[in-house]
Amino acid sequence: MSTMTGAHTQVRRTHEVRVLDALRQHGAMSRSELARRVGLSRTTLSDITADLLLRGAIVVADTDAAVRSGSGRPAERLAVDPASGQFLGVDFGHRRVTVAIADASHNILAEGACRYESDANWERRLAAAYGLIDDLATRNGVHLSDLQAIGIGVPGPYTYACEGAPTVTWKKQLAPDGVDRAFEQRFGAPVMVDNNTRLAALAEAIAGPSAADDLIYVRLSDGVGGGLIVAGRLVMGTRGYAGELGHVNVDPHGARCQCGKRGCLETVASVPAILGTCRANGLDVETLDDLAEAVRISDPVAERVLRDAGGALGRVLGGAAMTLNPDEVVIGGEIVHIAPVLVEQAASTLRYELSPIPTDQTQTVRAALLRDNDGAVGAIASLFHQSPLAAAYSAVAPSGRRHPHEGV
Ligand SMILES: [Zn+2]
Repeated sequence: MSTMTGAHTQVRRTHEVRVLDALRQHGAMSRSELARRVGLSRTTLSDITADLLLRGAIVVADTDAAVRSGSGRPAERLAVDPASGQFLGVDFGHRRVTVAIADASHNILAEGACRYESDANWERRLAAAYGLIDDLATRNGVHLSDLQAIGIGVPGPYTYACEGAPTVTWKKQLAPDGVDRAFEQRFGAPVMVDNNTRLAALAEAIAGPSAADDLIYVRLSDGVGGGLIVAGRLVMGTRGYAGELGHVNVDPHGARCQCGKRGCLETVASVPAILGTCRANGLDVETLDDLAEAVRISDPVAERVLRDAGGALGRVLGGAAMTLNPDEVVIGGEIVHIAPVLVEQAASTLRYELSPIPTDQTQTVRAALLRDNDGAVGAIASLFHQSPLAAAYSAVAPSGRRHPHEGV
């Protein structure tokens, strides 16, 4: 295990990224060419490449014997191993698992998804994930023997397993106990687990058109979750609950929520809540596809239900935006692409809520750019360290095996 200090580790990672970038852009190179190109001393470069070779991130491609003009021993030429999966991102949703595999340069080598029943137990979910990972690796010719780290997103609020604080979620049947250990044992790499919505927020902040320092992200899915970027950092909160906007009350006498309260935002703006309200108003919709069709033909019931949900969402976002004064508010989840009216209404309500605040900029409210793979990509992003957004995850070093909250 590494005993390097944080600053030393950071410098070394920066060097690694430069070496990997140079090899990816310019192809195979000898150590001396590489040292010249990235501006490192031969000693430092040898140290970095030895470690990358050991980790399987790069390989000895050939020697420069064929192009060498002078005498002497041919020099080995190094190249990025295009088949070496170095980082694995796994997002366990309510009804499916999504997987992304990235190489040492953080390029996605393979990604895919596999469905399961919403009441599937963790044994079944793990089996689905393993099957999908094996299939992706085989079909794309990627090997996972040199994995550096695994990021896993799980549904619902995720409480870090601090000493004396057991891992809990509100949905007991979804408690991800042992998922981290199962992956660590199977792949022999350190595992980081977090709430998949927060990982989606991270991916969205990185993917966004501008690097927002202050961003509110909310995702409407089977539940409603969120994530906050504050002063350029993904915020987790004391126990990992920061950004749980789905359980802000919007109606004291509303429907009972899975968390035990009544009238949470989730009871009006989650996908099941929206479909249920449509049905209660005589519109026969079972799935998002049915809702998409109702939106396409401008069904008035669908329009009203979506506007009501958007209004409730806008009021909750208004409270959060009044507190945080963000650059950007992002609404994610498949439904926002099906029903843009929901985002329009949320944006309109949010503008009204913020009208007392003098602003010299237009408040940006947008639908998320990423779609199905946001959690898996975010899980991988959380393992990378160049982004200050992911600073809170810096304890999961490629050579370390510590949990995010075991101290940095
Ligand atoms: Zn609730």
